[in-house]
Order: sequence, then structure tokens, then C-alpha cells
Amino acid sequence: MSDNCVFCKIINGSIPSEKVHETTNVLVFKDINPVAPVHLLLIPKKHIKSVNELQHSDGNIISELFEVASELGKSIPELQNNHRIIVSTGPDAGQVVEHMHFHLIGGRKLVWPPG
Ligand code: AMP
Ligand code: ZN
Repeated sequence: MSDNCVFCKIINGSIPSEKVHETTNVLVFKDINPVAPVHLLLIPKKHIKSVNELQHSDGNIISELFEVASELGKSIPELQNNHRIIVSTGPDAGQVVEHMHFHLIGGRKLVWPPG
């Protein structure tokens, strides 16, 4: 938990969100500013600033994030054929919220390379 972190506040309920799924270590909610018909954010409940701060002991959290992404990718109809997981690290990569998160997007044709 980090005092000034918007995602930690979503986890503790002090900022509202549209929750989609929750596991022991992971929370999933709808992005407030979606860039695709389905745009979910998958976050660890532990405050990890970015990929660069991951520790070996966070392995269970990472596997749980991918497990949840895989389950949602199979169970949400718009994601079944195509979806993308994006994890930005650092401001020049577009990371605004300094609490590591997976964007899970789909429901439209996704272009490559991303912006
Ligand atoms: P990033 O730019 O990779 O740091 O992604 C942060 C994402 O969080 C953006 O897509 C925002 O639209 C989203 N976001 C910020 N605040 C909220 C909020 N209160 N509820 C839901 N999504 C949010
Ligand atoms: Zn946080």
C-alpha cells in the first residue's frame, strides 16, 4: 500500500472502480478511459511500482496475473479471438500510474507497432 497511489486506493475501496474479477493477489477493473471495446486493468494488490521493481519472490503474483489474463481472454467473448496484454514501464513508454499494471485490451483489430 502506497499512500498516494490511485490503484492502491482502488484496492482499498477509497476510490470507486468497476471491478470485474478478484483473486488472492490480483484485482481486475475497467479502465476509466478505454482505448478499445474491452479495456481492463489487471493489478497486483501489492504495490509494485513497475516491472523494474519486481523481485524473485513476486513470481507467484506474476503467474497469477497471467493466469487471470488467460482466463479472462478465454471467457470474455470480445477477447476470445484476439487480445493484447500491455505493460508500460517508465514515462516515455506511457506509464502514468506508478503501480504496475497489465492493460488487457481487445474487441477491435489491434495494429502493430503500437504507438
Ligand atoms: P498507464 O498509462 O499505463 O500508466 O495506465 C494507467 C491507466 O489507468 C490509464 O489507461 C487510465 O485511463 C487508467 N486509470 C487512471 N485512473 C483510473 C481510475 N480511477 N479508474 C480506472 N482506470 C483508471
Ligand atoms: Zn499502489
